[in-house]
Amino acid sequence: MTVGDNKNSMMILGRQRLLAPHWPVHLGGLGTSQEVAASVLEELCLHGIDETRRILTIDVVGNCILVAGSEAQKEAWLPAFARGEAFSAVLLSESTAGSDLAAIKTTATNNPAGWHVHGTKTWSQTSLAADYGLCLAKTGSGSPTTSFTLFLLDLRQPGTLLRELTTIGREAFVEVQIDAIVPDEHRIGRRGAGWTLILEALRHERTGREQNAKAARWLAQLLASRPEAAESEVVLSLLSRLAIGKQLSLQLSRELGAARRTEQFLSETELDAASAACKHFNTKLAQDVLFESLRLLGVGALTPYDQMKSGEVLAGGVQWLELPGLGISAGTTEIMLNTVARSVVKND
Ligand SMILES: Cc1cc2nc3c(=O)[nH]c(=O)nc-3n(C[C@H](O)[C@H](O)[C@H](O)COP(=O)(O)OP(=O)(O)OC[C@H]3O[C@@H](n4cnc5c(N)ncnc54)[C@H](O)[C@@H]3O)c2cc1C
Repeated sequence: MTVGDNKNSMMILGRQRLLAPHWPVHLGGLGTSQEVAASVLEELCLHGIDETRRILTIDVVGNCILVAGSEAQKEAWLPAFARGEAFSAVLLSESTAGSDLAAIKTTATNNPAGWHVHGTKTWSQTSLAADYGLCLAKTGSGSPTTSFTLFLLDLRQPGTLLRELTTIGREAFVEVQIDAIVPDEHRIGRRGAGWTLILEALRHERTGREQNAKAARWLAQLLASRPEAAESEVVLSLLSRLAIGKQLSLQLSRELGAARRTEQFLSETELDAASAACKHFNTKLAQDVLFESLRLLGVGALTPYDQMKSGEVLAGGVQWLELPGLGISAGTTEIMLNTVARSVVKND
């Protein structure tokens, strides 16, 4: 399976209702628990299927709509997302607002035809092939908790200009210039609720499950080439961390699911520290597995740059181009550590 046929694999999974199994049946899910969804994610990663499109569409955008969208919005968008027939990118970061998301400059001003959204988003993934982009825009001043709003932009509408960015990394990043009128029916949640909704979605993105599954896949590949390494102290320690990381992220998925059910999640800032810890623990683990693979297998085992850049996922190769992005996407390592530290200091 290659990243190139990812859209196809999403449609196959969608037909089986496996893209969003935790969503209600009438919206394209199977009505399962959050943990079942986490297990599906794990299986996809273990089989080397690029998860980005599913995570952005279902876990971030779809879940924001599920939590805050109107019934009409849920019915209009969620079944198509769940079937793998429509996709959405996430438009948060800007050139001067990544870690410090509160610094975003994109604005949305009320207009007789809807909202005039104006600004430039960067580092978005999958946008070129996506139908929509969930855009965080400023609709007021003052505290971030009241001054941002979410909109689901139609990426093919007039006034949106997409430009692929040239990078040395594996991911294809896109800059999206927006100067468009967005109907009020595409506002997700009430005006001013965007910040809280995005923080909740980020907690779900930060369970560390994806990084843990990647670590498991890379470790299995290493042991297939070097079975004798299974007895080494380093690999034994990686295996223990793998088991601990999986339990931590499972536990977090359970807590996030429970918080959502009781509708307490909007004020659950303690879960921010838990998700930051899970994301960091599993990211560091995945990075250490890659380094150990490199140490034991040597540079000859590195997947050639061209094959990685073109999206081919080769069994047995060390996926070194994924290393930097692991510690940046969905919140950098430093921000995860800051979040954990802040909660420790607060609780002292
Ligand atoms: C693989 C990947 C996928 C991505 N996908 C998307 C996407 O789909 N949509 C989207 O909107 N964005 C996406 N991003 C962007 C990502 O969210 C940002 O890159 C990230 O938030 C960091 O922002 P920045 O690049 O502006 O770096 P900066 O925020 O400028 O950070 C630069 C460095 O300074 C450190 N730093 C910043 N603030 C602090 C602080 N307070 N304390 C200590 N250190 C600090 C950071 O840790 C980092 O090392 C993606 C990024 C990657 C790598």
